[in-house]
Amino acid sequence: MPKKLNGTVIVTYRCNAKCTMCNRYKVPSKPEDEISLETISKLPEMYFTNITGGEPFMRDDLKEIVRELYKKSDRIVISTNGFYTEKIVDLCKEFPQVGIRISIEGLEQTNNEIRGLEDGYNRGYTTLKTLVDMGMKDVGFGMTVQDRNAPDLVPLYDISNELGMEFATASLHNSFYFVESNNIIHDRLMVAQNFESLINKLLNSNSPKKWFRAYFNHGLINYIFSQKRLLPCDMSFDTFFIDPFGDVMPCNGTKEKQVMGNLNTQSWDELWNSGQANEVRKKVRCCDRNCWMIGSVSPAMHKYIWVPFFWVLKHKFLFFFKKKKYSMYENKIVCDYRDGKVTKDALDACSTCEGCAK
Ligand code: SF4
Repeated sequence: MPKKLNGTVIVTYRCNAKCTMCNRYKVPSKPEDEISLETISKLPEMYFTNITGGEPFMRDDLKEIVRELYKKSDRIVISTNGFYTEKIVDLCKEFPQVGIRISIEGLEQTNNEIRGLEDGYNRGYTTLKTLVDMGMKDVGFGMTVQDRNAPDLVPLYDISNELGMEFATASLHNSFYFVESNNIIHDRLMVAQNFESLINKLLNSNSPKKWFRAYFNHGLINYIFSQKRLLPCDMSFDTFFIDPFGDVMPCNGTKEKQVMGNLNTQSWDELWNSGQANEVRKKVRCCDRNCWMIGSVSPAMHKYIWVPFFWVLKHKFLFFFKKKKYSMYENKIVCDYRDGKVTKDALDACSTCEGCAK
Protein backbone atom coordinates (compact mmCIF):
# COMPACT_ATOMS: atom_id res chain seq x y z
CA MET A 1 0.00 0.00 0.00
CA PRO A 2 1.43 3.46 -0.87
CA LYS A 3 2.53 5.57 2.06
CA LYS A 4 -0.02 8.14 3.21
CA LEU A 5 1.12 11.73 2.78
CA ASN A 6 0.72 15.02 4.60
CA GLY A 7 -1.00 17.59 2.37
CA THR A 8 -1.95 21.23 2.45
CA VAL A 9 -4.67 22.39 0.10
CA ILE A 10 -4.72 26.14 -0.59
CA VAL A 11 -8.30 26.39 -1.80
CA THR A 12 -8.23 30.10 -2.61
CA TYR A 13 -5.94 33.14 -2.64
CA ARG A 14 -8.90 35.43 -1.96
CA CYS A 15 -8.88 36.96 1.51
CA ASN A 16 -11.11 39.35 3.43
CA ALA A 17 -8.27 40.45 5.75
CA LYS A 18 -5.34 42.77 5.06
CA CYS A 19 -2.63 41.46 7.32
CA THR A 20 0.51 43.55 7.69
CA MET A 21 2.75 40.49 7.18
CA CYS A 22 0.99 39.07 4.12
CA ASN A 23 0.19 40.80 0.84
CA ARG A 24 -1.69 37.86 -0.65
CA TYR A 25 -4.96 39.81 -0.55
CA LYS A 26 -3.46 42.16 -3.18
CA VAL A 27 -3.15 39.31 -5.70
CA PRO A 28 -6.19 37.11 -5.15
CA SER A 29 -7.18 34.17 -7.32
CA LYS A 30 -10.30 34.38 -9.47
CA PRO A 31 -13.10 32.10 -8.26
CA GLU A 32 -13.38 30.50 -11.70
CA ASP A 33 -9.66 29.54 -11.66
CA GLU A 34 -9.71 27.92 -8.22
CA ILE A 35 -9.07 24.23 -7.66
CA SER A 36 -12.13 22.14 -8.54
CA LEU A 37 -13.67 19.14 -6.80
CA GLU A 38 -12.56 17.07 -9.76
CA THR A 39 -8.90 17.99 -9.16
CA ILE A 40 -9.26 17.49 -5.41
CA SER A 41 -10.63 13.99 -6.07
CA LYS A 42 -7.25 13.15 -7.70
CA LEU A 43 -5.26 13.81 -4.52
CA PRO A 44 -3.61 10.80 -2.85
CA GLU A 45 -4.39 9.16 0.50
CA MET A 46 -3.31 11.42 3.36
CA TYR A 47 -2.93 10.97 7.10
CA PHE A 48 -3.34 14.73 7.56
CA THR A 49 -4.74 17.56 5.44
CA ASN A 50 -4.62 21.25 6.18
CA ILE A 51 -7.10 23.41 4.27
CA THR A 52 -5.93 26.98 4.04
CA GLY A 53 -6.01 30.12 1.91
CA GLY A 54 -6.33 33.11 1.58
CA GLU A 55 -9.45 32.71 3.65
CA PRO A 56 -10.89 29.25 2.90
CA PHE A 57 -14.42 30.21 3.94
CA MET A 58 -14.58 32.61 0.98
CA ARG A 59 -15.22 29.46 -1.06
CA ASP A 60 -18.95 28.76 -1.18
CA ASP A 61 -18.30 25.07 -1.84
CA LEU A 62 -16.00 24.47 1.13
CA LYS A 63 -18.36 21.84 2.54
CA GLU A 64 -18.17 19.87 -0.68
CA ILE A 65 -14.37 20.15 -0.61
CA VAL A 66 -14.23 18.84 2.96
CA ARG A 67 -16.61 16.00 2.06
CA GLU A 68 -14.36 15.02 -0.85
CA LEU A 69 -11.20 15.25 1.26
CA TYR A 70 -12.63 13.05 4.01
CA LYS A 71 -12.76 10.24 1.45
CA LYS A 72 -8.95 10.25 1.45
CA SER A 73 -7.73 11.93 4.62
CA ASP A 74 -7.69 10.67 8.20
CA ARG A 75 -7.64 14.12 9.73
CA ILE A 76 -8.52 17.58 8.41
CA VAL A 77 -7.74 20.96 9.97
CA ILE A 78 -8.99 24.23 8.47
CA SER A 79 -7.02 27.45 9.04
CA THR A 80 -9.25 30.53 9.02
CA ASN A 81 -9.48 34.03 10.44
CA GLY A 82 -12.84 33.08 11.95
CA PHE A 83 -14.73 36.03 10.50
CA TYR A 84 -17.52 34.06 8.85
CA THR A 85 -19.03 32.59 12.00
CA GLU A 86 -22.24 31.28 10.40
CA LYS A 87 -20.45 29.47 7.58
CA ILE A 88 -17.95 27.93 10.00
CA VAL A 89 -20.64 26.77 12.41
CA ASP A 90 -22.66 25.34 9.54
CA LEU A 91 -19.67 23.33 8.27
CA CYS A 92 -18.82 22.11 11.76
CA LYS A 93 -22.37 20.83 12.27
CA GLU A 94 -21.83 18.46 9.36
CA PHE A 95 -18.20 17.64 10.25
CA PRO A 96 -17.86 17.74 14.05
CA GLN A 97 -14.54 15.89 13.81
CA VAL A 98 -12.86 18.61 11.71
CA GLY A 99 -10.15 20.77 13.32
CA ILE A 100 -10.49 24.56 13.20
CA ARG A 101 -7.56 26.92 13.80
CA ILE A 102 -8.47 30.58 14.04
CA SER A 103 -5.71 33.11 13.53
CA ILE A 104 -5.78 35.71 16.25
CA GLU A 105 -2.82 38.04 16.22
CA GLY A 106 -3.06 39.45 19.69
CA LEU A 107 -5.52 41.01 22.10
CA GLU A 108 -8.31 43.08 20.55
CA GLN A 109 -6.59 46.27 19.40
CA THR A 110 -3.36 44.56 18.28
CA ASN A 111 -5.24 41.86 16.39
CA ASN A 112 -7.42 44.33 14.52
CA GLU A 113 -4.44 46.52 13.61
CA ILE A 114 -2.37 43.60 12.31
CA ARG A 115 -5.24 41.88 10.49
CA GLY A 116 -6.82 44.98 9.06
CA LEU A 117 -10.17 43.37 9.71
CA GLU A 118 -12.78 45.54 11.41
CA ASP A 119 -14.08 43.84 14.54
CA GLY A 120 -11.89 40.85 13.57
CA TYR A 121 -10.99 39.95 17.16
CA ASN A 122 -14.58 39.83 18.37
CA ARG A 123 -15.70 37.88 15.30
CA GLY A 124 -12.87 35.36 15.71
CA TYR A 125 -13.38 35.03 19.44
CA THR A 126 -17.16 34.62 19.03
CA THR A 127 -16.58 31.87 16.47
CA LEU A 128 -14.14 30.07 18.79
CA LYS A 129 -16.51 30.32 21.76
CA THR A 130 -19.47 29.12 19.69
CA LEU A 131 -17.51 26.09 18.46
CA VAL A 132 -16.41 25.18 21.97
CA ASP A 133 -19.99 25.55 23.25
CA MET A 134 -21.11 23.24 20.41
CA GLY A 135 -18.77 20.59 21.84
CA MET A 136 -16.19 20.74 19.04
CA LYS A 137 -13.06 19.02 20.28
CA ASP A 138 -10.35 20.14 17.87
CA VAL A 139 -10.50 23.92 18.06
CA GLY A 140 -7.67 26.38 18.61
CA PHE A 141 -5.94 29.69 18.10
CA GLY A 142 -3.08 30.35 15.73
CA MET A 143 -0.84 33.37 16.27
CA THR A 144 1.96 34.77 14.09
CA VAL A 145 4.33 36.37 16.56
CA GLN A 146 6.09 39.63 15.65
CA ASP A 147 7.39 42.71 17.49
CA ARG A 148 3.93 44.25 17.75
CA ASN A 149 2.12 41.33 19.32
CA ALA A 150 4.83 39.42 21.21
CA PRO A 151 3.70 40.85 24.59
CA ASP A 152 0.24 39.32 23.93
CA LEU A 153 1.67 35.83 23.46
CA VAL A 154 1.30 34.55 27.03
CA PRO A 155 -2.02 36.35 27.71
CA LEU A 156 -3.47 34.72 24.56
CA TYR A 157 -2.13 31.33 25.60
CA ASP A 158 -3.85 31.81 28.97
CA ILE A 159 -7.15 32.59 27.22
CA SER A 160 -6.81 29.48 25.05
CA ASN A 161 -6.14 27.43 28.18
CA GLU A 162 -9.20 28.78 29.95
CA LEU A 163 -11.29 27.79 26.94
CA GLY A 164 -9.58 24.37 26.74
CA MET A 165 -8.23 25.06 23.26
CA GLU A 166 -5.12 24.31 21.26
CA PHE A 167 -2.63 27.19 20.87
CA ALA A 168 -0.47 27.21 17.75
CA THR A 169 2.32 29.71 17.13
CA ALA A 170 4.29 30.89 14.12
CA SER A 171 6.63 33.77 13.38
CA LEU A 172 7.19 36.03 10.39
CA HIS A 173 8.29 34.37 7.13
CA ASN A 174 8.95 35.69 3.64
CA SER A 175 7.96 33.75 0.54
CA PHE A 176 6.01 33.80 -2.72
CA TYR A 177 3.01 32.57 -0.69
CA PHE A 178 2.91 35.68 1.48
CA VAL A 179 3.82 37.92 -1.48
CA GLU A 180 6.17 39.53 0.99
CA SER A 181 9.92 39.69 1.35
CA ASN A 182 10.45 42.31 4.03
CA ASN A 183 9.10 40.55 7.11
CA ILE A 184 11.56 40.55 9.98
CA ILE A 185 11.68 40.60 13.76
CA HIS A 186 13.46 43.75 14.96
CA ASP A 187 13.70 43.32 18.72
CA ARG A 188 14.80 39.69 18.80
CA LEU A 189 15.58 39.57 22.53
CA MET A 190 12.17 40.92 23.52
CA VAL A 191 10.35 38.49 21.21
CA ALA A 192 12.50 35.57 22.38
CA GLN A 193 11.80 36.48 26.01
CA ASN A 194 8.08 36.15 25.35
CA PHE A 195 8.64 32.78 23.68
CA GLU A 196 10.73 31.74 26.67
CA SER A 197 7.84 32.53 29.05
CA LEU A 198 5.46 30.54 26.86
CA ILE A 199 7.88 27.60 26.68
CA ASN A 200 8.13 27.50 30.47
CA LYS A 201 4.34 27.53 30.80
CA LEU A 202 4.06 24.70 28.31
CA LEU A 203 6.76 22.66 30.05
CA ASN A 204 5.11 23.19 33.43
CA SER A 205 1.82 21.78 32.13
CA ASN A 206 0.80 18.15 32.45
CA SER A 207 0.20 17.67 28.74
CA PRO A 208 2.81 15.77 26.66
CA LYS A 209 1.43 17.50 23.58
CA LYS A 210 2.31 20.88 25.13
CA TRP A 211 5.84 19.71 26.02
CA PHE A 212 6.43 18.97 22.35
CA ARG A 213 4.89 22.30 21.46
CA ALA A 214 7.48 23.85 23.78
CA TYR A 215 10.15 22.31 21.55
CA PHE A 216 8.47 23.84 18.48
CA ASN A 217 8.61 27.28 20.15
CA HIS A 218 12.27 26.70 21.06
CA GLY A 219 12.77 26.21 17.31
CA LEU A 220 11.07 29.55 16.67
CA ILE A 221 13.65 31.33 18.86
CA ASN A 222 16.35 29.56 16.85
CA TYR A 223 14.61 30.68 13.64
CA ILE A 224 14.24 34.36 14.53
CA PHE A 225 17.99 34.42 15.25
CA SER A 226 18.48 33.21 11.64
CA GLN A 227 20.04 29.89 12.63
CA LYS A 228 20.04 26.55 10.83
CA ARG A 229 16.83 24.56 11.24
CA LEU A 230 16.85 22.23 14.23
CA LEU A 231 15.48 19.37 12.10
CA PRO A 232 15.99 18.41 8.44
CA CYS A 233 13.36 19.56 5.96
CA ASP A 234 11.82 16.70 3.98
CA MET A 235 9.11 18.65 2.18
CA SER A 236 8.14 17.17 -1.20
CA PHE A 237 9.17 13.67 -0.09
CA ASP A 238 6.15 12.81 2.03
CA THR A 239 4.54 16.21 2.28
CA PHE A 240 3.11 18.55 -0.35
CA PHE A 241 1.16 21.75 -0.91
CA ILE A 242 -1.30 22.30 -3.74
CA ASP A 243 -2.34 25.82 -4.73
CA PRO A 244 -5.64 27.14 -6.12
CA PHE A 245 -4.35 26.60 -9.68
CA GLY A 246 -3.67 22.88 -9.19
CA ASP A 247 0.11 23.36 -8.96
CA VAL A 248 1.72 20.90 -6.55
CA MET A 249 4.61 22.38 -4.57
CA PRO A 250 6.96 21.22 -1.83
CA CYS A 251 5.97 23.94 0.63
CA ASN A 252 4.97 27.57 1.00
CA GLY A 253 8.36 28.83 2.21
CA THR A 254 10.38 29.15 -0.98
CA LYS A 255 11.25 32.52 -2.47
CA GLU A 256 9.78 31.67 -5.87
CA LYS A 257 7.03 29.13 -6.40
CA GLN A 258 8.51 25.66 -7.04
CA VAL A 259 6.22 23.46 -9.14
CA MET A 260 6.39 19.65 -9.13
CA GLY A 261 3.52 19.34 -11.61
CA ASN A 262 -0.10 20.32 -12.17
CA LEU A 263 -2.94 18.13 -10.93
CA ASN A 264 -5.48 19.73 -13.27
CA THR A 265 -3.72 18.15 -16.22
CA GLN A 266 -1.81 15.20 -14.71
CA SER A 267 -2.70 12.18 -12.60
CA TRP A 268 -1.24 12.09 -9.07
CA ASP A 269 1.13 9.20 -9.81
CA GLU A 270 2.37 10.77 -13.02
CA LEU A 271 3.03 14.08 -11.25
CA TRP A 272 4.56 12.69 -8.03
CA ASN A 273 6.97 10.38 -9.87
CA SER A 274 7.94 12.85 -12.61
CA GLY A 275 11.40 14.18 -13.42
CA GLN A 276 10.12 17.67 -12.63
CA ALA A 277 9.09 16.55 -9.12
CA ASN A 278 12.52 14.99 -8.59
CA GLU A 279 14.22 18.21 -9.67
CA VAL A 280 12.24 20.09 -7.02
CA ARG A 281 13.26 17.45 -4.43
CA LYS A 282 16.90 18.09 -5.27
CA LYS A 283 16.37 21.80 -4.60
CA VAL A 284 14.69 21.03 -1.28
CA ARG A 285 17.75 19.02 -0.23
CA CYS A 286 19.92 22.12 -0.53
CA CYS A 287 17.36 24.72 0.53
CA ASP A 288 18.87 27.22 2.95
CA ARG A 289 15.78 29.18 3.94
CA ASN A 290 15.62 27.42 7.31
CA CYS A 291 11.97 28.20 7.82
CA TRP A 292 10.19 26.90 10.88
CA MET A 293 6.48 26.67 10.07
CA ILE A 294 4.24 24.00 11.47
CA GLY A 295 3.52 22.61 7.98
CA SER A 296 7.15 21.53 7.53
CA VAL A 297 8.10 21.07 11.18
CA SER A 298 5.27 18.83 12.32
CA PRO A 299 6.13 16.02 9.83
CA ALA A 300 9.83 16.43 10.74
CA MET A 301 9.05 16.20 14.46
CA HIS A 302 7.23 12.92 13.83
CA LYS A 303 9.96 11.57 11.59
CA TYR A 304 12.90 12.59 13.82
CA ILE A 305 10.97 12.10 17.04
CA TRP A 306 14.11 11.35 19.10
CA VAL A 307 15.36 14.92 18.78
CA PRO A 308 12.33 16.61 20.36
CA PHE A 309 11.91 13.61 22.69
CA PHE A 310 15.35 14.07 24.29
CA TRP A 311 14.85 17.82 24.44
CA VAL A 312 11.57 17.26 26.33
CA LEU A 313 13.19 14.66 28.55
CA LYS A 314 15.94 17.05 29.50
CA HIS A 315 13.74 20.07 30.12
CA LYS A 316 10.75 18.42 31.66
CA PHE A 317 12.31 15.69 33.77
CA LEU A 318 15.97 16.51 34.35
CA PHE A 319 14.91 19.96 35.46
CA PHE A 320 11.87 18.54 37.24
CA PHE A 321 12.26 20.65 40.39
CA LYS A 322 13.21 23.85 38.58
CA LYS A 323 10.31 26.24 38.07
CA LYS A 324 12.12 27.86 35.16
CA LYS A 325 12.92 24.83 33.06
CA TYR A 326 14.04 26.66 29.94
CA SER A 327 16.22 29.67 29.27
CA MET A 328 16.56 31.28 25.86
CA TYR A 329 20.28 31.65 26.65
CA GLU A 330 20.64 27.90 26.15
CA ASN A 331 20.90 28.99 22.52
CA LYS A 332 24.49 30.13 22.01
CA ILE A 333 23.45 32.67 19.40
CA VAL A 334 21.19 34.43 21.93
CA CYS A 335 24.12 34.78 24.35
CA ASP A 336 26.39 35.99 21.56
CA TYR A 337 23.82 38.57 20.54
CA ARG A 338 23.32 39.77 24.13
CA ASP A 339 27.09 40.01 24.58
CA GLY A 340 27.55 42.02 21.39
CA LYS A 341 29.51 39.29 19.61
CA VAL A 342 26.92 39.24 16.83
CA THR A 343 25.23 42.37 15.53
CA LYS A 344 21.66 42.97 14.48
CA ASP A 345 22.82 43.73 10.94
CA ALA A 346 24.65 40.39 10.75
CA LEU A 347 21.51 38.49 11.83
CA ASP A 348 19.33 40.52 9.47
CA ALA A 349 21.68 39.70 6.62
CA CYS A 350 21.30 35.95 7.30
CA SER A 351 17.50 36.19 7.32
CA THR A 352 15.14 35.83 4.33
CA CYS A 353 14.21 39.50 4.58
CA GLU A 354 15.34 41.08 1.34
CA GLY A 355 15.35 44.71 2.35
CA CYS A 356 17.33 44.12 5.54
CA ALA A 357 21.07 44.90 5.66
CA LYS A 358 21.98 42.88 2.57
S1 SF4 B 1 13.35 24.95 4.46
FE1 SF4 B 1 11.87 23.43 3.68
S2 SF4 B 1 9.86 24.35 4.02
FE2 SF4 B 1 11.38 26.00 4.11
S3 SF4 B 1 11.50 26.80 2.03
FE3 SF4 B 1 13.09 25.28 2.24
S4 SF4 B 1 12.12 23.41 1.45
FE4 SF4 B 1 10.48 24.82 1.92
